[in-house]
This record gives sequence, C-alpha cells and structure tokens, in this order.
Amino acid sequence: MSRKPITVTQPYLPPLEEFIPYLEQIWDSKTLTNNGPFHGQLEQALCNYFGVEHMALFANGTIALITALQTLRISGEVITTPYSFVATSHSLLWNNITPVFVDIDPQRMGLDPGKIEAAITPRTTAIMPVHCYGYPCDVERIEHIADTYGLKVIYDAAHAFGVRYQGESLLRHGDLSILSFHATKVFNTFEGGAIICPDAKTKQRIDFLKNFGFADEVTVMAPGINGKMNEFQAALGLLQLQKVDAAIARRREIDVVYRDALAGVPGITLLQAPPDTEHNAAYFPILVEPDYRMSRDELYASLRAEDILARRYFYPLISDLPMYRGLPSATPDCLSVARSVSQRILCLPIYPDLAAEDQQRVIDIVAS
Ligand SMILES: *Cc1c(COP(=O)(O)O)cnc(C)c1O
Repeated sequence: MSRKPITVTQPYLPPLEEFIPYLEQIWDSKTLTNNGPFHGQLEQALCNYFGVEHMALFANGTIALITALQTLRISGEVITTPYSFVATSHSLLWNNITPVFVDIDPQRMGLDPGKIEAAITPRTTAIMPVHCYGYPCDVERIEHIADTYGLKVIYDAAHAFGVRYQGESLLRHGDLSILSFHATKVFNTFEGGAIICPDAKTKQRIDFLKNFGFADEVTVMAPGINGKMNEFQAALGLLQLQKVDAAIARRREIDVVYRDALAGVPGITLLQAPPDTEHNAAYFPILVEPDYRMSRDELYASLRAEDILARRYFYPLISDLPMYRGLPSATPDCLSVARSVSQRILCLPIYPDLAAEDQQRVIDIVAS
C-alpha cells in the first residue's frame, strides 16, 4: 500500500463546490483581470481583516517585493538578512541594488538590530528585514535606526499573514510590508502577493507601477511591470479568507502537540515567537543541536526515508549562493549566528490537514 508523503506544508483548499459560484460569476462577467470586482473586494476584505488602511494585490510576492523597491525609489545599498528565501535578495538584484547582509538575532531569527548600524554607508537607502517564520523582528529598534539615519524600511512579511504583535497587525510596521499568497503559505491564492502601504498616494503609485505604469489610457508615468492579480486568484482569496482563522487555529493545535511531545528531547531546541505575539504557526522550526543522537542532516534523511519531507528553511544561506558570495558582506565571519542556525535548523510538517497519526509518526522519529 502506498502512503502519500508527509510534506512540510500542504496548500489549504476550500471544498471545490464552494468555489464554483465564484467561477460562474467570472465566466458571466467575462472580467478576468485588470482590477475586476473580486480584486476590489479582496483588497477591502484583507484591509478589514488586518486592520490596515491600504493594500495593493499582486500576482505573486516576488513581484510585490520588486515593485515595493521601485515604489520608494530605493537604490544603492540595502541592508538585509542572509537567512531567508532567495526572493528577498533577488528582488534587490532585479533593481540593481547591492544587498548588504547583516547577521540575525538568535531569538527572533530576524535582522539583529545591534549589528545594523555598523553596516550603514553613504550608499545605504533602506533596510529590508524578514519576519522569519512569522516571528516579529525587533521593529522598534529597527525603525529607530531607520529614523536616525533617514532610511526606509520594507518588511518581507511573506511568513506573517495574520500575525499580531503588541495588540495590532504586524503589517502596520515599516514604510511597506510585503505578503506572499503562494500555495505553501498560511493563506494562498495559488500564487499571489500584496503590498501593505500607509497612505492613498503610495497605493496609487503602486497601482500604476503594477500595471505597466499606466496612470490613465494615454499616460505612462514610469516603466512599470505587469504584477496584477487576476480575478480567479482574487475570488479564491475571498473564499480562503473565510477559512483562514480556522486554518490558523488548527495549525496552533498542531504546534502545541509538537511542543508537548518534543520539549525535553535531548539535543532538540524548540523555537518560539517573541513575547506579545499572536503567531500564525506557519512553520514548526526546531534546532538539532550537537548533542542530539545524530546530525541535522541525518535526521532529515531518516525522516525522508519514511516519506516525511521536512525542510531545512533556511539552508544554504542566501549569502553563500554564487550570485552573492563575492559581496564583502557575505564574508562568513560576519554572519556567524545565521550560519550556525542554518546548520541546525529543520522545519517539521505543519498544515491544517495534517492527520494526528501522521504527526505522531514525525514525533516518534524525532523523539526516539
Ligand atoms: C514565499 C516567500 C517569498 C516569495 O513569495 P512568492 O509569492 O513565492 O513570490 C518571499 N520571501 C519569503 C521570505 C518567502 O517565504
């Protein structure tokens, strides 16, 4: 009998029959994209859900990151983390910006604010931190540094859907925040993304940029890109949004089961969101320490042998990839925390449909 592999995450999908009426509306109206009715409804619904004033939907999170940098006319050097998905730094290269890697804080897994100032040069224009695993960065200290030096802050909040920090949406921080609605994320529209911005004027600039730069039929204000979310994605988003609180609640239950089962396993360190955080349990990261009974990669392989596809998010470091490793800031000694974490990290399967017996199989292998 063949069992399905247990992947690190699985897309959360509504019952197909609930999606059909949305598709019928699209087929009837023949409005497929370009700011259709579902697009407008989803922007409004997500603003309400997060408690933010403005957001612009995108075809995916990477185009949103690239467009966010264009929106604020960022150039020169941007301080960012080597401990993320490659899209964070790639968005800088696509804008001819030099990434300057700064080490991470071993608790929050985001940029270490204590190490940012030393990396600022006359060419620095912005900071691009990542709320890794949805754990809030030290937003107060990062924003204090940005204010002191006149820098912009663009958060890659791809992991942070629904995360609240100090009683409000984490997305309220920074000049801009970027979300991803990729299939693997807590909330998905197959592919998709968004920029959260503070004012209507910025939203208008983003909306122009994501539609080739068109300000009206005959005016093109900048060499924009095609970053538009289509009506199929937006309709799916509206339906998913009705389910997302239940999905996050279920993720949290799975998180608690792991925590109870794995606390006290020698050589395993459990990570957790900083205080004052209502987390989304997007990931379940553990650190496999040197005193564990086998190495991280051996544990990864033992799980794989049982068709359990845990992932090393994030290994390798972005700064070790061929297009980045020649940068002065990619020198390994400057990034010792990120390097050490990336050698110990393993993310265990967590998704709303993860069956209790499957989770138990994961636990049995890790804890045995
Ligand atoms: C998923 C992800 C992205 C990219 O989003 P896409 O929607 O897949 O383009 C960017 N940054 C981080 C940290 C991510 O996890």
